[in-house]
Amino acid sequence: MGGENLYLFHEGERIAQGKDGTRAVANRLQLHLGTSIDVGRFELFREQRVVYALSLDEDGYPWVSEVTGPAGFLDAPDEHTAIFRGEKTSFLPEDPILTNFRTCSDRRMAIIVMDFEKRIRYRANGNLEAYAPDKDYVLDVAEAIPGCPKYIQRRRIVGQRQCMEKPVTRGKSLSAEAIEAIEKSNTTFLGTLNPNGHCDVSHRGGFPGFIVVNSAVELVIPEYGGNGMFLTLGNLELCSRAGLIFVDFEGTGNVVQVVGDAFLEWKNAEYEGAGRLIRFHVKQFVLHHGASPYKWEMIDYSDVIPAHGRGHGEDLPMQGKGLFPMEMVLVDSQAMNESGTTKRFTLWGSQLIPYTPGQYATFTLTLPSGKELQRSWTITSVPTASAGDHKMEITVKHMTGGEASTYLHEAEGYPKVQLIAVGGELSPYLSGVPELPRQVILISAGIGITPMMAIARSLRETDVEVTFIHSERHEKDRAFADELSSLNFSNGSFKLTTTVTDPEEPINPGVVRGRITRELLQSKLKLENHDYQAYICGPGKFVRDVREFLSQLKVQASRVHTEEFIF
Ligand SMILES: Cc1cc2nc3c(=O)[nH]c(=O)nc-3n(C[C@H](O)[C@H](O)[C@H](O)COP(=O)(O)OP(=O)(O)OC[C@H]3O[C@@H](n4cnc5c(N)ncnc54)[C@H](O)[C@@H]3O)c2cc1C
Repeated sequence: MGGENLYLFHEGERIAQGKDGTRAVANRLQLHLGTSIDVGRFELFREQRVVYALSLDEDGYPWVSEVTGPAGFLDAPDEHTAIFRGEKTSFLPEDPILTNFRTCSDRRMAIIVMDFEKRIRYRANGNLEAYAPDKDYVLDVAEAIPGCPKYIQRRRIVGQRQCMEKPVTRGKSLSAEAIEAIEKSNTTFLGTLNPNGHCDVSHRGGFPGFIVVNSAVELVIPEYGGNGMFLTLGNLELCSRAGLIFVDFEGTGNVVQVVGDAFLEWKNAEYEGAGRLIRFHVKQFVLHHGASPYKWEMIDYSDVIPAHGRGHGEDLPMQGKGLFPMEMVLVDSQAMNESGTTKRFTLWGSQLIPYTPGQYATFTLTLPSGKELQRSWTITSVPTASAGDHKMEITVKHMTGGEASTYLHEAEGYPKVQLIAVGGELSPYLSGVPELPRQVILISAGIGITPMMAIARSLRETDVEVTFIHSERHEKDRAFADELSSLNFSNGSFKLTTTVTDPEEPINPGVVRGRITRELLQSKLKLENHDYQAYICGPGKFVRDVREFLSQLKVQASRVHTEEFIF
């Protein structure tokens, strides 16, 4: 490739290469990048039936879209042009790309041409020159970037799908179905842009679960070792706006498009094989139900993917050496009450961990001094699959002078802990009764709220009536306050009562002052229905008192399940 045709790294790419010390390697590889399509690749363009294309919306967010057609729908007639043949090209009916083409004056576009079966990828970036419905879409190519076969899962098209005519689901935070699609996926395409240059779509692959869904608004993308040029991360150095697409190729045909802001975390990621992380904050998503027109068959996984993420997909066997002890990485933390005394921690493990809402996990922690501690914390998350999850959330109160809780609250980076067991009986799913009761009563004090929270979260989509009574000394210490006040149950039958025991403190409307008493329980619980189970958690004296009150209210002991946290 001659000097004129040389791709020149932009400022963001140079910054990224500098941070990772890969400038010399990048300079060598630069010779492979160009400003025009390699003639030897024209045929690759013509053979494809699926291409991933980026377009910008009016707010400048890059949407990555699946564009399809019979072979020949994409053409490269010369080195500077890629054409989507209008009469052969199909878009998903409600794909934002269609609005973007119509309404957005910024016509920068990027495509990635993938031959999954041969593990070939090739990117072409530039400007959309001409657009008119049913006419050809002409991409004026300014950058052409070949990619290596790393992390590409081999798959091939085996037929066409009967596409569903179901309206798309949209939102500002991911729906459960969108999360499921992301967690099952082993391939995604990431759209980014250089604000002063071109847009770009790059490929990312891993085992299912390699993209970690931290919450409905946050994804973590591990960055496995690449070529050191940092074309994607270089763009993110200059502009956080990014887009992702997930396609359920072999299964439902669901397509999830997500846009948001992506931030780089250099050199501190602890996922196996991943030197860096991208933290992706979701701004908007669109889920197209069963809309991807081709049905695929998986051939095999890339054999260079790190083990991270393995075990999340049903098609992948658990790793052989047994589950425990298992290393988990603390990937996120967040204050859960106004006073900041309680924090939520998200932990990630490379294997599927079987757990049930209400159960706790026991860990070994190694302090910086080398001292080892063993502690248990309730798992406050609900597993995304019936067999378990590869991640869990724990919610820990900082105990003044407490060794383990102080260590977690002050932890920086991504420390590792050893999960040594999951256990506990305080769960409506473990009562030995095959079906859930009609009513679940949750009574807690202080940090004893944690198993109740997991149970309440898990019952949201069921018909179970939940009565939740919680007591706290100070309102500012109450964890999950916001979530609980807006916890919507599908059947509308969630009843929450909060009491604050401090005699002086002003209390919010709706909050009851004082301890949980027999009278309070009598007024709040509907005990004439005999199909209920009660769960109590908190300090020892509280648990004993509440058990006694329930007994006085003629609740059978067999319906009462308790747990005390021993500090
Ligand atoms: C089944 C189960 C589930 C649990 N779930 C949760 C949960 O969801 N969330 C949660 O926050 N906790 C939970 N716990 C409690 C948790 O296991 C820890 O005990 C807690 O986090 C405190 O640990 P620590 O190491 O910080 O405190 P530790 O170092 O064990 O100290 C505990 C307390 O003793 C005091 N102390 C320590 N040493 C001394 C000393 N020499 N003299 C006087 N006082 C001292 C400390 O100040 C502190 O208040 C659970 C416990 C169990 C058994």
